[in-house]
Amino acid sequence: MSKQATSNEQPPTIDPRWVGFGFAVFALALLVYALSSATPSLALAALLAFAALVPNLGLLTAPRSKVHRLLALALLVGCVALAFAVVAASGGAASPLWPALLPPIFAALLLLPGRPGVGITAAIWLSYGAFTLVAPPDERLPAAAAWLLRGAEVGLVTLLVARTVSAQRALSARARTRELALHIFLTSSNRLRISTSVQGVLEEVAEAVQSAGDFDCVTLSLLDEGTRQASVAVAIGASGRRLGAVERLRFPYAELAERMERGRPVGAHAVEVDTLPFRNLPAEQHLVLPLRTQHDTQRGLLTVSTSRQSRAILDEALPLLELLANQAAVAIDNADLYTTMAQRVRHATADLERGAEELRRARDRAEVLYQIARALSLTLDERQVLDQTLSLIVAHMGCERGGIMLLEPNTGRLVYRTTLERQRVDPQGLAGWVLANRVHAIVPDTTQDARWQVRSRFDAVPRSVLAVPVMLEHEALGVLLLIHSEVGHFTVEHAQIATAAAAQAAAALSKAQLHRHVSQQSEQLGVVARQREEEASKLISVLRSIGDGVVVSDRHGLVRIVNPAAEAILGIRAEAFLGRPISELPGVPADIGAVDDADRMQKFAVGERTVRAHCAAVHSSKHEPLGSVVVYHDLTLEEIADRLKTELVATASHELRTPMTSIRGYVDMLLLGTFGEVPEGQREPLRVIKTNVVRLVLLIEDLLDMSRVEAGEVQLRAERVDVGTVLSEVAQVLAGQFRERRVGLSLDLPPGLPPASADRQRLEQIVVNLIGNACKYTPHGGEVRVALRNGGSELRVEVRDTGVGIPEEARPHIFTPFYRADNPLRDEVGGTGLGLSITRKLVELHGGRIWFESKVNEGSTFSFTLPLG
Ligand code: ADP
Repeated sequence: MSKQATSNEQPPTIDPRWVGFGFAVFALALLVYALSSATPSLALAALLAFAALVPNLGLLTAPRSKVHRLLALALLVGCVALAFAVVAASGGAASPLWPALLPPIFAALLLLPGRPGVGITAAIWLSYGAFTLVAPPDERLPAAAAWLLRGAEVGLVTLLVARTVSAQRALSARARTRELALHIFLTSSNRLRISTSVQGVLEEVAEAVQSAGDFDCVTLSLLDEGTRQASVAVAIGASGRRLGAVERLRFPYAELAERMERGRPVGAHAVEVDTLPFRNLPAEQHLVLPLRTQHDTQRGLLTVSTSRQSRAILDEALPLLELLANQAAVAIDNADLYTTMAQRVRHATADLERGAEELRRARDRAEVLYQIARALSLTLDERQVLDQTLSLIVAHMGCERGGIMLLEPNTGRLVYRTTLERQRVDPQGLAGWVLANRVHAIVPDTTQDARWQVRSRFDAVPRSVLAVPVMLEHEALGVLLLIHSEVGHFTVEHAQIATAAAAQAAAALSKAQLHRHVSQQSEQLGVVARQREEEASKLISVLRSIGDGVVVSDRHGLVRIVNPAAEAILGIRAEAFLGRPISELPGVPADIGAVDDADRMQKFAVGERTVRAHCAAVHSSKHEPLGSVVVYHDLTLEEIADRLKTELVATASHELRTPMTSIRGYVDMLLLGTFGEVPEGQREPLRVIKTNVVRLVLLIEDLLDMSRVEAGEVQLRAERVDVGTVLSEVAQVLAGQFRERRVGLSLDLPPGLPPASADRQRLEQIVVNLIGNACKYTPHGGEVRVALRNGGSELRVEVRDTGVGIPEEARPHIFTPFYRADNPLRDEVGGTGLGLSITRKLVELHGGRIWFESKVNEGSTFSFTLPLG
């Protein structure tokens, strides 16, 4: 290409100096001809001036600048004027020197190609024509001079033809150059289209530029937007030689920009400068073309350097250079874009590869964890859980040794649970560290880690170790330890898998422990349940076998148990009542939980039987209601026995009383000496007989009273009784007894108390009993105080003593017939144990109540009430 360019460079034009020479020869020929033909001196002078000026017309062919053009025009005008002056002075239209018009005509055609030149030529010729009309040419021209003139004319015509041919050639050469430029441009743009590297683009462009004109130096530099530093990317010298010394030179862009400011603008963007920052040769000129992208950012520079003589080539190549510069800018942009895209694709590919690698690892991890999970899900044995976890993880990581240590809750020691050798490990080594910090530890080389405790020769050899905590939520159960003979074997990924496996093992372990715990618990519960069942069946057997009827309800008050005795006593069938409210049973109050002590017991008749029901609510130890129990006791037989007993006692007492009365009467009579003087020795025995007979009579009377009361034979003759009076009278009757026992007696009888409704005799009996007891059970020196109080709708009598008191254990039995409490005076004072039981019956017959309060060795207070009269 460069060869092609050199052969077709500038079109072969005639050197202007030759044209000037031609004009000079022609002018001299005219001058010689004028001298020989004795032309007037004015014409000669004009011709002389003409001959001096005309050669310059040749030198001025093809003017480039405006000044140059004006100068040429002025010269042309001068020459035309001189030529016409010569013609006019040498004879006008008949002048033989008319060829003086030819040089300006040719010069006009040469100087001003196209219409102006033709116009001026025509004007000159028409002016001469007008001349010739006025005066015909001279016939007297000598032959030699005519030949000379003709020769000069032929020379000029030849020159004109040569000029025309060379112009034609120049035109076709320019067309070829354009074609070549187009070819270069297309070739380069094709190449640039497929070029993806910026350096490649620049090299392409540089070569294309170089082939457009074989310049001395073509460079392409890239501009760094940030630092505003330009660096030469490609430099090509003459004949396409790479200029290694220039390439990769860096220079501040400002420096070049400054030179460009001072330079001459050429074409649209190019600037012509005298020196470049990296090239400063004499007689060289440089063209700088900025590489501007479509966004009008400058990406670099194209510089073309050439010698000043080759200036025309530069001008010729300028449009191509501009195109190439644009092309380069766009291609740089594209290459950049491609680089960015390629980078992105590379990154994306790398990301994808990383992702795929991650996925593969995750799959491996998931697989080993799945295997562990599957193995662990099949067992509930702790030992197996640990063994299987260890063997799977060891196989996965290719380790040759490993172990799982668990923390002993009691001792706080770590104990190997799955290696062959079982040994205790103090919680200070690597395992202890992991347990304390609850994070994994990767030890690439055990000899370089202080946490690795050397215990045996095995431990002293360099190995890599991975230890992860066995965590169950936030609790550390132990440590999983893996050992590999290669130093630096374990990675973070290994640690992650081991941690996950340890977590699974921990979960399975806890499941196994839970299973063990639950099994133990259920065994214990089974034992307890069996015991309970046995107890319950025992209880039910007891309930079934006891003689009293028992009905049990649940907390909702529904009957759950009815024992056979209850069925027999109540004459019912258990099935009829099971599941029904217990309150439907006879003798059970509607709200069994709310009954007070008084209502707990109820007596009622079932046919001919008398039954007593005892109801009680049952509470747990925490006072929660559990249900209720009703115990039915058949009183029929007891009542019959009671009645028989009462009858027996009544009959016996009655039968005994008569003989006793007669014995007593005879003893009295004997002692009084009715049957003669009683010897002194017999008196004492008689007195003893009398005393005992009196006691017997009293006992019999008590028994009779008792049996009467129990048989319901006592009929009260109620009347309005002044209780105070009764108390005073009884006090008087008993005064002797009090004196004898040296016990004080006082009465507290407030005046104005209303009378009570009572059987006077029985009231006396009550009061005698109570005051008598108070006297009996009060030691010498004691005090008895009887008080009468108004209790609203009733009267209350209190008998307070300072006696021996009643012990706690005796209190429930005090009103039981024949019961005598243990006290120091019991034997001394004697008694039957019937008094208080009769007294209570009598008080109750009156519609009153009787009770007592007592403290041992401090005294007792017996109180009873009587309804008002
Ligand atoms: P007794 O004939 O034995 O007095 P009672 O029925 O009158 O029989 O009394 C029963 C028992 O009550 C007595 O044996 C006695 O132990 C006790 N007792 C009765 N009254 C008093 C009292 N005021 N102080 C102490 N104990 C008393």
